[in-house]
Order: sequence, then C-alpha cells, then structure tokens
Amino acid sequence: MTRYADFYKRSLAEPDAFWAEQAELVDWHTPPKQICDYTNPPFAKWFVGGSMNLCHNAVDRHLKDRADQAALIAVSTETDTEKVYSFRDLHAEVQRMAATMVDLGVKKGDRVLIYMPMIAEAAFAMLACARIGAIHSVVFGGFASGSLASRIEDASPALIVSADAGSRSGKPIAYKPLLDEAIRLSKHKPPAILMVDRVLCPMELVAGRDHLWRDLRQKHLDADVPCEWVDSTHPSYTLYTSGTTGKPKGVQRDTGGYAVALAASMKHIFCANAGETYFSTSDIGWVVGHSYIVYGPLIAGMATIMYEGLPTRPDGGIWWSLVEKYKVTAMFSAPTAVRVLKKQDPALLKKYDLSSLRALYLAGEPLDEPTATWISESLGKPIIDNYWQTETGWPILTIANGVDKAPSKFGSPGVPMYGYDVKLIDENTGEELKGADQKGVVVIEGPLPPGCMQTVWRDDDRFVNTYWKSIPGKLVYSTFDWGIRDKDGYFFILGRTDDVINVAGHRLGTREIEESISAHPNISEVAVVGVADQLKGQVAMAFAIVKDAALLPDAAARLKLEGEIMKLVDKDLGAVARPSRVQFVTLLPKTRSGKLLRRAIQAVCERRDPGDLTTMEDPAALQQIKDLTA
Ligand code: ATP
Ligand code: MG
Repeated sequence: MTRYADFYKRSLAEPDAFWAEQAELVDWHTPPKQICDYTNPPFAKWFVGGSMNLCHNAVDRHLKDRADQAALIAVSTETDTEKVYSFRDLHAEVQRMAATMVDLGVKKGDRVLIYMPMIAEAAFAMLACARIGAIHSVVFGGFASGSLASRIEDASPALIVSADAGSRSGKPIAYKPLLDEAIRLSKHKPPAILMVDRVLCPMELVAGRDHLWRDLRQKHLDADVPCEWVDSTHPSYTLYTSGTTGKPKGVQRDTGGYAVALAASMKHIFCANAGETYFSTSDIGWVVGHSYIVYGPLIAGMATIMYEGLPTRPDGGIWWSLVEKYKVTAMFSAPTAVRVLKKQDPALLKKYDLSSLRALYLAGEPLDEPTATWISESLGKPIIDNYWQTETGWPILTIANGVDKAPSKFGSPGVPMYGYDVKLIDENTGEELKGADQKGVVVIEGPLPPGCMQTVWRDDDRFVNTYWKSIPGKLVYSTFDWGIRDKDGYFFILGRTDDVINVAGHRLGTREIEESISAHPNISEVAVVGVADQLKGQVAMAFAIVKDAALLPDAAARLKLEGEIMKLVDKDLGAVARPSRVQFVTLLPKTRSGKLLRRAIQAVCERRDPGDLTTMEDPAALQQIKDLTA
C-alpha cells in the first residue's frame, strides 16, 4: 500500500487523531476540547471548544519570522500598477481597515458585504472582518444591481465595502451606480458604505451614509486592533455558489475547521513552503479566491499574487512573466483560462524562466484532454486537476503529492482526499456501487471534513433538504455530480446529475459526448445537452465552436463537419450517444466564473424559461442558440 493510501485510510478510521495532528498546523488561542461533534447529523462541529482567529493565522503569526517578506503582491494590468505588501505592511493595512469598520459600527457577528474589484483593499477588508469576528460576504465585482440586491437582502450587512470602479481591457466599469441601485432595490435598511476611490470613475457620495476609505484610513493610520478570539465554529464568511444549475446557494463556513483544512491542503496538496510565492488567477468573488488567493497561501506564510486584468493583456505572456518575476512555485487556474491562452502565440510560453514553478493546479470544470495535453506539453510541468465545490472549500478529489508522489491520469481529477469518505451511489436504488467502472452519483458520507460548509446561511432546512436528502433512505451529502471510479481508485467526473442524458434507456454523461467531440481537430469548444424527445425520451444536442470561422464558409461545410462529428461520437461511444444535431456557434453561454450553463441551453432547446440567469456572462451566447433552435 502507498503512503497516501495509508494516510487516507487513517483519516477516516481515526478522524480525531488525524485531525488533531492537522490542527497543530495553525495557532489556537484556546486549544479545542473535542475534535468533532457529530451528534446532530448532518451538522458537523469541528474543533469544539477551541478559539482562534483567521487573520491572526494569516498575518500576525508570521510577523515573528517574516515581517519583511512579501505577503500580498497586488498586480493590475488594468491600471498598470504593482505593489508588494510585506506581512508588516499587510498587518498595518488590515488594522486600519479593521479600525475603520469598528468606527462605522461593525461588531462581531455582523455581516460585511464586499463588492470589489481585484485590488489589495478587497483582501484588507476580508482579513479585517476576520480580525474583528465580522462575517464577510464577498460578491463578485462583475455582478449587476439585481444580483447584488438579492445578496444584500440575504446577508443583511451592517457595512458594504466597495470601490468606485473595476476595469476591463483598460476601460473603467463604474461600480457606485450599480451599488446605489442595488441598495435601492433591496428591502434591507441601507447600511454604512465604505468606498475605495481608485480615481477611475467620479462618484456621488450620500452624506452620512457613504464614507471614503482614503479619509478613514488616514484617521486610523496608527490603528492597533487586536484579534478577536472567536469560537472555532464562529462563521467566518458566507459565499454563494456559481449558480450553474439554479439559484445560487449561500454557503456558510466556520473559522477553526477552515483554517485547519486550508493549512493541511497547502502542505499535503499544494506542497507549499513558507517564504515562497503562490499565484491563483481566480477572483476573490469565487471560492478559489477565498481559499487560495487570500487565506490558504497567507496561512502557509507564502506571498500571494492578486491579479487584476486579462490573461492576454498586454499579451498572452503576462501570467508567465509574473511567474518569472516573483518566482512562483505553485499556480492555480481554471481550464477556461487555459483555453483562452491556447489561442495565443505559443512562443509566449517559452519566453520566460519558469524554473521556480513546480506545478499548475486546475479546477472549476472538467479538464478536457486536448487542453490538458496542450498546457502540460507547453509548460513542461505537472498539471494537477482538482475537483471540489464552493460548498467544500478545498479539494475533494486530486493528488496529494505532498504526502506521496502519485501519477495523475488524464481526464481524472484523482483520488478522494483525506477526510472525504467519497462514494458512488446508484441513483435509482440508492445502493453503493463498489465495483470498478460503474457510473453513479458522487456522494460524501458525513461528517463532512473540516473546512466544508456548516449550513446554508440562515436556512438549516435548505442545507438538509438540498444536499442530504437526494438519495432515498440515506443521509449522505450529494455533490450532484456524476462519476465513475476505475480499478485504481481514480475518479472521473462525467457531468452534473442534471446533465445525465437518458437516450432510449441508456444513461450517458454529457461530458463523455463533449470529450469525444472536442477531440475533433477543428473544434475548440462544445456543449452537449439532453433535449426531450417523444420517441427516445431524450436526445443529445451539441453546440460547438470551431477553431477558425474560415473552416465553415457555407452550409455545405457545416453539414460536412456535422457528419464528421457524428461519426466520431459513433466510433467513441456508440450510436446511442450520437447527437441528433451539431450546431455551430461563436460563443457558448457561461457563468461569470467560466462554467457552461447547460441548463439554460437545455431550457432554450426545449422552449422553456431558462430561469435564473443572473450569473450569466454574455446573453448574446444564449440568443445564438435561441435563433438556431427557433
Ligand atoms: P451551482 O451549485 O450554483 O449550480 P456551481 O456548482 O457551478 O454552481 P461551484 O461550487 O463553483 O458552483 O462549482 C462546483 C462544481 O464545478 C462541481 O460540483 C463540478 O460540477 C464542477 N467542477 C469543479 N471542479 C471540477 C473538476 N476538476 N472537474 C470536473 N468538474 C469540476
Ligand atoms: Mg454546485
């Protein structure tokens, strides 16, 4: 048996001893009295009786050994600015922000909504909340007033921290009018507002309500705000899921379990060492930004890069230039970003010295084989796929190279991580599928390990009913993803449970069909959905983007390519999986975090209302599909 297999087995067989050891990776004010209280399933309480502070663990505790080392590296290719904050600087800025929050009336347990672009002040605000025991709720800066208003109502914040503007492609995008409109739309009593003025867009301030960070920072320049020691189970934040499958869910996270889970993942999964640099290209509006831009790397004593800008501006080499400049050792991105880079000049990947980089971690959506092969060959570095959810806060499936070096398998995110009792369940019978190569729903046996969601914010019933009641007769956490495990224990994610197609009694994952189609040399991206069909129950429909529009000059060329793709699927998966149509588009509907919105495509194909589209990136994409299927 490998060292990892032993490590994993022990995490489930002796969870208290296992997690008590992991808990030593962080600082406690009061050590926990009990490792896990699972007397009221599915609600797990981790490190009960312990008290600590996330900000202390991310910032203060590093002052002793690395006060002058880089902590936060804020790079913006939008405003052409770059600033390195040492742990000492970060400590000072966070205290200024914390003092400002206290000044504006924020108390322990109050919510602070953060609606910010990717600037250092956003991280200061998150850490300041943690410092004073306030609960942050970061809302992705790209959301418009409607989405923001519903999140304001749900979080009922005492304070909103925002900025005059974000920026995209060098063009400022005003936030203040969107914020004002959201406050007007929401039924929540208007909270205090703290505005960071980047001097990108003029702002109108409401007297008595709106405050400028610039002024309050000045007032609190020498602030000394001690960390509030909170119970391990005290909520640290709430965050919404991406809304790929429906209405976003407000995930609530604890403090102690999260700190331990992140510290452990930095060591065992990301092989991180204090003093090194971590670069995650995500956004603070998503869970990856929370865990692996802000908290994880800082808890590990690393410098973390916060990047505002496109991956392609000034050119497709910008990220690699940062890897060279800051000697990044671990990098985290998403397949969607890699696909963008793939369209750039490949020479840009060879231009920089990437010798510091040990691995590139990718998550968020299935990593298709062509994308994986391209990036791994171009970089000459290990590519580590990892599968998880906003709900879990850290990887469920991947490879823990920090415990034991293990090979990756293309198309598989890897094996279950320590603490996660991952199983496959037959949806119809509710029985566990123990054999190799059987398809089922990926579920996790309770208790969920440290770092995972405690509940849905203010809605325990929704937590239980949404996640734990989907398999009749069993209290297990459903990921709502469909998967398969091979004989070596590696999992493959086949798509969301909603995306499983039933063609004449055959159950197929949309992902399998997409993989097959994207292997065609002329296809760059594809979405497959199941559409209701009177005869067969459901049929697969594909919407594909070609690599070069010149490939499809006319209807005859489209028909020819459609035929080739159908043949390809026949050969790979059999005729049952063959899409009834392959249509060509220039854009696919995605969430703002880059995930395919298959449910919206499916609804349009079936002429139904596509539902909640607040997280959709570009409505034009769905319109193309509407036009094609009209
Ligand atoms: P919602 O739950 O609101 O529909 P969402 O599920 O897209 O939104 P996230 O929590 O951001 O919100 O995404 C988690 C999901 O992303 C997983 O359940 C899975 O479907 C997909 N996913 C994440 N990482 C991977 C991966 N490495 N491989 C395959 N799928 C992945
Ligand atoms: Mg989800």
